[in-house]
Amino acid sequence: MLYVPLGGAVEEIGASCHFLFVDGTGILLDTGSDPEKEGRASVPDFHRIHDRPDWHIDHIVLSHAHHDHIGSLPVAVREFPHAHVHMTAPTRKLLDTLLPASARLQLRRRMEGVTTEDPLYTEDDLETSSYLYLVHDYETDFDLTGLKGGFPITGRFYDAGHILGSAGVLITAEDDGRTRRIFYTGDTGLQSQTIIPGAVYPEEPVDVLLLESTLGADTEAEKYPRRGEEKRLGASVARVLAKGGVVLIPAFSLGRSQEMIALMDQYKRRKLIPDDTPIYTAGMMRAISDTYDKTRFISPRLNEEFEVYGVPQRRLPRGNSGLNEALREPSIFIVGSGMMFENTISNKIAQRIASHEKNGIFLVGFAREDSPADLLLRAAEEKGPGAEVVISRAHGPQRVLCAVERFRFSGHSNRRDLLGIVEELEPETVILLHGEQEARQWMRDNIGYFHPDVDVRMPEKGDEVFVD
Ligand SMILES: [Zn+2]
Ligand SMILES: [Zn+2]
Repeated sequence: MLYVPLGGAVEEIGASCHFLFVDGTGILLDTGSDPEKEGRASVPDFHRIHDRPDWHIDHIVLSHAHHDHIGSLPVAVREFPHAHVHMTAPTRKLLDTLLPASARLQLRRRMEGVTTEDPLYTEDDLETSSYLYLVHDYETDFDLTGLKGGFPITGRFYDAGHILGSAGVLITAEDDGRTRRIFYTGDTGLQSQTIIPGAVYPEEPVDVLLLESTLGADTEAEKYPRRGEEKRLGASVARVLAKGGVVLIPAFSLGRSQEMIALMDQYKRRKLIPDDTPIYTAGMMRAISDTYDKTRFISPRLNEEFEVYGVPQRRLPRGNSGLNEALREPSIFIVGSGMMFENTISNKIAQRIASHEKNGIFLVGFAREDSPADLLLRAAEEKGPGAEVVISRAHGPQRVLCAVERFRFSGHSNRRDLLGIVEELEPETVILLHGEQEARQWMRDNIGYFHPDVDVRMPEKGDEVFVD
């Protein structure tokens, strides 16, 4: 077996895309794009496949609908027109919302002169490629044998507990009387969230484990179990509402926002916060919430009766006067962007509420260094109330007097849980991916310590890794 990371293995998380060549069958695991880059630079190194006459792609398997795993799919379909594309049914539905939105965003950025890169694909391109998509249930075998493949190969999805539709994939190759089992975790969350349950893994051991390592360097994650964080956030939201303030929860449209809406609903049911507190939502997250509801009987849920739209919520008013009106009464705003980038709704609301002591801004997701969410949090932690922060350059520095707190609601497994996956699946070889250098190094050291017989690899982008 040959493995080559085509994007996102080194330093930055970047674009997730992994090439597997097994007995003459070529498989791409994920076709992400790098959210930090524009145009061709954001796409994985597909030319590496074309450069080698003996390499080819028969199948593309998608683990979940986050942009760093699917953003280059239309480009991959163009480059490898004969490949079949496999995913779960919810991922398929999410792609129908997310890829056209990405095409429109690329076009808008080009027209507005934000970038000089032409869009990688148009909405028309998406129409023609979508008939290639094949959907599969969890824990059901599907065929991955290539045209020139020497032996039958099957795939099987396992719930990855990360976002709606997320899956790890088990690839089984019947190789000349020997069965080889390869498991790709995708992004994997072992702990149950509020809507979706934790990950499930194959019952039998595997030979090769392709393991994500996002939180490998995070010393804090295991100290903040989710249930404790839920309580802490509930108390903070209640405190702000009791003072007559407004709660802003900046959240990513896919996954975190739906989980937050569900959590606010639980707070209301437990009488932790007043039942009539308005919850405002906006933008693409509303279409995604609808997909959560439509798939509740066909994908894993903690409670399949629960509907995100069963939670009363108001559409955020358009225009300044409507927004100012909404901000006048105690209410909760769950809006994008999660990192509070300029010219987004969460940034706009933060500018309006940050200078008043009664309000609260609660961060529940990852914030890249120097993003407005990160600047706000660091100022609050290091300098305390009254610190000056530039939330928006147009607005200039402003004093932050509202409560600013961070909560840990990651959809990724903490590093103890990641080691538990190795323990459970007993692989001969572990290939570490989807993590910064430091994160993968910690994983390598600890797998080496607890399981000295396991061969641990930490390839850089483009490296060819051969596994017997
Ligand atoms: Zn993800
Ligand atoms: Zn990811």
